[in-house]
Amino acid sequence: MSTSTHPATSGGLVQITSLEEMIRQRVAEERARLEKEAGIARKEIHHFHKPIERPFTADQRNKTTLLFGGLTWKHEKLVHGALEGLGYKCEVVPTANVKAFQLGKEYGNNGQCNPTYFTVGNLVQYLQKLEESGIRREDLLNNYIFLTAGACGPCRFGMYEAEYRLALRNAGFDGFRVMLFQQSGGLDQSEAEAGLCMNLDFFLNLLNALNMGDIINEVAHQIRAFEANTGETDAVLDESIDYLHEALKKKSPWSVESKLGKAANKIPMKGTVEYLGKFLNQLMSDDYMVALNQVRDRFNRVKVDRFRVKPIVKITGEFWAQTTEGDGNFNMFPFLHKEGAQIIVEPIGTWIMYMIHQVVQKIRDTKGLEEGTVAPPSWRIDKQAKIEWNYRNKLMKLRAAELIFAREYHRIVDALGGTAHRLVDQYELQRLGHPYYNSRAGGGEGHLEVAKNIYYSNRELCHMVLSLKPFGCMPSTQSDGAQSAVVAHYKDMIFLPIETSGEGEINAHSRVQMALGEAKAKAKLEYKEVLEKIGKSQDELKAYVEQHPEMSNALYPVPKYKGVIGTAANFAVHVAERMGAQVPYHAEAH
Ligand code: SF4
Repeated sequence: MSTSTHPATSGGLVQITSLEEMIRQRVAEERARLEKEAGIARKEIHHFHKPIERPFTADQRNKTTLLFGGLTWKHEKLVHGALEGLGYKCEVVPTANVKAFQLGKEYGNNGQCNPTYFTVGNLVQYLQKLEESGIRREDLLNNYIFLTAGACGPCRFGMYEAEYRLALRNAGFDGFRVMLFQQSGGLDQSEAEAGLCMNLDFFLNLLNALNMGDIINEVAHQIRAFEANTGETDAVLDESIDYLHEALKKKSPWSVESKLGKAANKIPMKGTVEYLGKFLNQLMSDDYMVALNQVRDRFNRVKVDRFRVKPIVKITGEFWAQTTEGDGNFNMFPFLHKEGAQIIVEPIGTWIMYMIHQVVQKIRDTKGLEEGTVAPPSWRIDKQAKIEWNYRNKLMKLRAAELIFAREYHRIVDALGGTAHRLVDQYELQRLGHPYYNSRAGGGEGHLEVAKNIYYSNRELCHMVLSLKPFGCMPSTQSDGAQSAVVAHYKDMIFLPIETSGEGEINAHSRVQMALGEAKAKAKLEYKEVLEKIGKSQDELKAYVEQHPEMSNALYPVPKYKGVIGTAANFAVHVAERMGAQVPYHAEAH
């Protein structure tokens, strides 16, 4: 039988050329028979097609405003500076609130996950506000574009683009442009509309802004929990973000022209030189480091009291729910702070490393299995060597991406005083998470939710893990199932999953309060045991710190001791050590 899948027709007769075709024809005949028998009239089927978007061209750039949002206000402001530095006009859509959630429900499809409603409704709400402020609808459609991340699933993330379009149409903004940069699109998506060049400069600027946002956000959380003067950390944070925004905005991208002028056109392989030059400039230049050191010094002048015994709460969960700072996660960060917790937030950097890691896994898993390829016979050593080379080449590039990203991230950690956490090794997370949640199962945070819970609890980095997961989230629901096994195996862990939604804030807060009570007791007991073991009273330790005022600076480096979790407990061991006491603890590598 022929392997062709197309029937050959001649003179009205259909010649069946494959088994599949025969089955298809029989199914069609049977369907026609049943429809006739049931008296069903055949309807014409109209499949959904992605609407053809009006292009965003380079000549529209000066009068077009890019809208974006969905992160923390710190990340957003820094990304704003980075985009302005590339010559774009942009505006941040403010943090989504309950009203946005309701609009998302009103104009979107049923059965979506919580972040979809919040983010989609938030865009509609913002456009409505712009219209109320006097901007004509026609001008909104022509002069504004929404820029967002996209993916092809497997969770509802793949449906965001369609949801934005549907809600915009239902709200009367049909034709409003939504542009995606693809989660899996790589470093150069410049084939996209020329108005927005998603090239290496775009991604480097974006990554610098996101990394700065991650680290400054974590540092601020560390300090705020212990600040001697309430509100001082936030005042410095505001000032610092404004300052870094300007630094990002003023930095012009590296180019061969900027170095060689007109002579640049004469150099051979100009494109490759330009590409390499940009990378080297990113790796070698200290442009941002000077600004970050200024911010470090400013934060370091904030005075802190590390003797306040506080439980450390590690935030995990679904990407958006654990990142947003508003109604989307029941305003969880200010609530935890008010309740006396020290918070470790989750950096976006972990997710970026996770995405690279997943691509590495896929390449390893599918080695030699690419669709359509035929394995060469064993005697064709040349062809086999070529396949091996291609495979290793891909892995090498991704390994380089992992190393470069981590290096750049850690450079910022060091420039901001070195107190923020380093990126957690993805291979370690995979090793911890895989026995409970298959690391090849994609969508959302995949195995990360489980792995982070084990990692932070087992490494004695927190007293409690709070997982923020949206209602209707498929990967988080799967994760929750697996977490039951995790909690059963790690008996000492305090783990609380909270389902976030547009309502139910009081109930969620009261559940957090209960778990926090347990974590507080754990932190207090730990501190008491530490004081007993080091043989010093709190008053003695405090008196020593008063005589050494540099120890009350916000970024004074306090070692992390094995077996000790809390900041107050670690600080007590450190002070005792400086006082010359023999302490039964040893410091761990940072
Ligand atoms: S991870 Fe969950 S909440 Fe996030 S987009 Fe996917 S389904 Fe929605």
